[in-house]
Amino acid sequence: MARRRIIYHDWLARERAVDQSGEVSNGADSEIDQHVQRALATLSENEREFIVHFYFMGQTEQQIAKATGRTVIRVHALHRRAVRKLRRSLGGFVAERFGLELGGRASGCPVCESEFAAEIDWIIANRDRKATWRPVMREIHESFGIQIRSPQVLIGHERYHSRSQRRQDNGQ
Ligand SMILES: [Zn+2]
Repeated sequence: MARRRIIYHDWLARERAVDQSGEVSNGADSEIDQHVQRALATLSENEREFIVHFYFMGQTEQQIAKATGRTVIRVHALHRRAVRKLRRSLGGFVAERFGLELGGRASGCPVCESEFAAEIDWIIANRDRKATWRPVMREIHESFGIQIRSPQVLIGHERYHSRSQRRQDNGQ
């Protein structure tokens, strides 16, 4: 049985959530929504603003830095802090509702070991499939400071560890 992982920004964007039966439910889930709103409320103004611009509006850390007059390093730190806080405040609810422990990841995989595995999964899932992996590798490096050595790393991650693969596994 494949491990599953909760993707927090799916909740934030209210796209979908995978429940215990492995089904993907679309649209708002009031219980999830309530917890997400509560978690967002624990963030600082700057952190919340970052989450909105990065996850809802699809801006890069570079764009947000430019718009807010901060350095990319500071924006990156803000990003890490905001995600860490969200993870912490949603962890109990996730474990209870979905029967999952946080942090089930493949060791040795730079994506899975990254604090931004969920964000990178999103980038991979939404990539231009007609293009090479190069722009994806560049974006991961620019946004998260992670150097992916070769496309094989991402191909392996997508095939064996990523959310879409798990969803297929769960559906069987
Ligand atoms: Zn991986």
